[in-house]
Amino acid sequence: QAKHKGKSSYAHFVPEMTEVSHDRLQMESRMRRALDQNEFELYFQPIVQTDTGALSSAEALIRWNSPSMGMVMPDRFIPLAEETGLIIPIGEWVLQEACHKAMKWREITGTNVGVSVNVSPRQFRDPNFSDIVLKALESSGLEAEYLELEITERLILDNTIETAEILKHLDQAGIRLSVDDFGTGYSALSYLKSYPFDTLKIDKSFVQDVLKEQDDASLVRAIINMAHSLGLRVIAEGVEEEAQTHFLQHEGCDYSQGYFYSRPVPEEAFEKWLRTNHRAKA
Ligand code: C2E
Ligand code: MG
Ligand code: MG
Ligand code: MG
Repeated sequence: QAKHKGKSSYAHFVPEMTEVSHDRLQMESRMRRALDQNEFELYFQPIVQTDTGALSSAEALIRWNSPSMGMVMPDRFIPLAEETGLIIPIGEWVLQEACHKAMKWREITGTNVGVSVNVSPRQFRDPNFSDIVLKALESSGLEAEYLELEITERLILDNTIETAEILKHLDQAGIRLSVDDFGTGYSALSYLKSYPFDTLKIDKSFVQDVLKEQDDASLVRAIINMAHSLGLRVIAEGVEEEAQTHFLQHEGCDYSQGYFYSRPVPEEAFEKWLRTNHRAKA
């Protein structure tokens, strides 16, 4: 009796463990196939000038249309892609795709529309990273100044010589560099002085409560002022309400991004948005 009980609880324990690693393995092998099968797709979200609402650029946000899992959001697969190194080929695809799309938007609008691409730490530490970025610019014909790379404070935390060197190299090539999710990384601010960043993106957690919480309002105001004193541009993320745009305008925030303007949308919808927007301005 006791023996049987022991065995069954053991038997209960093991399948659960295997289930977890089985899921991971399955996800990994699906992800390996996904690039060849064209299952990744970029969505685009406009970044506008806060004072006029005019389009400035768009952030590329990856989606995975998996035949077995449906649409998978990046928070669900980017961490595993980083762990396995798959983020390197996926990231290269994102860069190529994003730069080519920016050239297409130029044709549609007759003006320059920049594109922002998220870069994760593993990608950044790949010794070929700079070459991959420059290749994407070269093959698309996009000038470096219209590409912005978004890097989180997490990456800057492992403050290595290589990080500094790569940032310097990319900056010298004319590529724009931004700090994503600014204010959430528990990082010292001194890196802003030594690294060639162009832009701070204020994390949406601060922007969201800017009208309800005095502390968030103070923080956002302080970040904008600090950024400007350092010669950096500021983008507010996660702008969802009109009243927030008034606050940001009043505080002199350069650019805004969020559901209030547009959700991230597929390529075709973004192009339609561009056509309408452009016509409205002309
Ligand atoms: P992120 O770079 O900070 O991107 C902003 C996230 O906020 C996006 O989520 C976007 O859809 C969402 N968002 C935009 N406006 C609003 C708003 O008004 N309210 C709210 N609540 N959310 C808003 P998404 O697309 O799920 O992406 C999540 C994260 O995944 C990104 O955060 C980025 O870190 C990462 N990611 C996305 N695409 C890529 C990629 O191509 N490569 C890498 N390495 N990471 C990526
Ligand atoms: Mg981003
Ligand atoms: Mg620069
Ligand atoms: Mg962010």
